[in-house]
Amino acid sequence: MGRVPAGPQVVSGEGPERRSGAARHAFAGETARRWVLHIDMDAFFASCEQLTRPTLRGRPVLVGGTGGRGVVAGASYEARVFGARSAMPMHQARRLVGVTAVVVPPRGALYGVLSGRVFDTLRSRIPVLETLSFDEAFGEPAELAGASVSAVLDFCAELRAAVRESTGLVASVGVGTGKQLAKIASGMAKPDGIRVIAPGEQQGLLAGLPVRKLWGIGPVAESRLRALGIETVGAFAALPEVEAVSILGGSIGAALHRLARGIDDRPVAERAEAKQISAETTYETDIVTLEGLRPAITEMAAAAHRRLVRDGRAARTVVLKLKRADMSITTRSSTLPYATEDLATLTSAAQRAALDPRDLGPVRLVGVGYAGLSAIRQESLFPELDRLGADSTDPGADTADLGETVSPARDLASGSPGDDTNGPVGQGVPAAPSVAGPADGEPGPDGTELPVAAPEFMAPEQESSVDSVRTTVGNTPSGAPAWPVAESRAETVGAAADPGVTAGGVVDWRAGSDVVHPEFGFGWVQGAGHGRVTVRFESRSTGPGIARTFSADNTELRPADPLGSLS
Ligand SMILES: [Mg+2]
Repeated sequence: MGRVPAGPQVVSGEGPERRSGAARHAFAGETARRWVLHIDMDAFFASCEQLTRPTLRGRPVLVGGTGGRGVVAGASYEARVFGARSAMPMHQARRLVGVTAVVVPPRGALYGVLSGRVFDTLRSRIPVLETLSFDEAFGEPAELAGASVSAVLDFCAELRAAVRESTGLVASVGVGTGKQLAKIASGMAKPDGIRVIAPGEQQGLLAGLPVRKLWGIGPVAESRLRALGIETVGAFAALPEVEAVSILGGSIGAALHRLARGIDDRPVAERAEAKQISAETTYETDIVTLEGLRPAITEMAAAAHRRLVRDGRAARTVVLKLKRADMSITTRSSTLPYATEDLATLTSAAQRAALDPRDLGPVRLVGVGYAGLSAIRQESLFPELDRLGADSTDPGADTADLGETVSPARDLASGSPGDDTNGPVGQGVPAAPSVAGPADGEPGPDGTELPVAAPEFMAPEQESSVDSVRTTVGNTPSGAPAWPVAESRAETVGAAADPGVTAGGVVDWRAGSDVVHPEFGFGWVQGAGHGRVTVRFESRSTGPGIARTFSADNTELRPADPLGSLS
């Protein structure tokens, strides 16, 4: 394989932990039977924003919802320096970062396209990829079986260069003799690095980690071990296996004990997709009427639907399952002319399949399943992002719920749904001096102050989910929203990326929306309110653009596809 020049970031090796260059790796000549790579994009969402909105480069960017209970979906490294993290309440992150924080709503369509390009590039070098989320994957390149550390470093440098070339984004790569070590290594590699854990160092490295960093150790297991004075992976590994088994139980105890000793033979494999997504509940008292059955079906249809959208899929077939008091089961299905992820359509299909318990007999369990699954358009791969700023739902419950859904990102027992928040060794976010310190009040490249402040424009409606925004937009008086918000410190806020069009035909501009103007080209709304809208005209290739303010009813300014910012 030809080697693309690795770029300065690969060989920089500023600190003792940055073993990037092959020459400086103490174990360069060491080989391993297998090498597993964990490829993880650096601050993926925030990096996508900085890539396509050049003004944001070098700035503390927070991606997420801005509503009262909005949550950070992604934070740039510049924001992490202040302690901002994914899955943190947005108000807390803003407080930590201070006035330089730039808050933008997630643009799932953009992240979906860039994620696709990342995986395409990775697959061109590593045909079998086990994707963990939209920005993370395991790979085990066949050509690296038996290779030296030095050869692995070369492979990874080329891989990172290829990703950077095709996407403009930075991937960090961790490598070890198994998945767990690879994941630990990528946490150490971040940001913008490669870390190979050689067989000769893995035991010492594992031994010092807190025991909770072991893949699969949950809070219960951790507290059980701590109660016995076992705080580190090394202490756990030092136990006789029979003792590990007696503390944590049969198969789990044995498996974790093997991992603690650095034995991790789990294969890297493409994920099988679920054939059916369903939800069911047994009711405390039997349901005896159709009127009683209807709400139960609606509830289960919605529960299964939440999993469906999180899995990024649409369903064509809806299956209703009714278990009677005598334990016999009736299932009825209906198939739609096309696959859909629309809750109302799916719910009514489930309702059409209902049978009256007065005829069927008392019902104790109701289930709704979706089958005939297909991938849906890419922007819907990130429905949780759209909901992150939602006040109409409970983000707390939503976030917690992410841990037990069918979404492929969620099976890392030690992981969380956040973006880059949890390198297994807690070293994922070094405060690199080069990004420390806000550019407080620093003039932008064009001499204006960045970003443009336009705080008073958020109506309560705008802080609800995209769906409810769409349904309430028609009722919103056109022009400036009636309720300025008190929170005015962050310069750019917005919950929904799509501008709505009011009854009068005036676009209801939202911060973070993409727009296009016949004279100034592509841009994004930095702020809106009081009948005005401020737009930063820029896209990936333009460099930092200029900001201009228009009247909100300017007819030349039009909503644009977020993907336009890639040009
Ligand atoms: Mg990542």
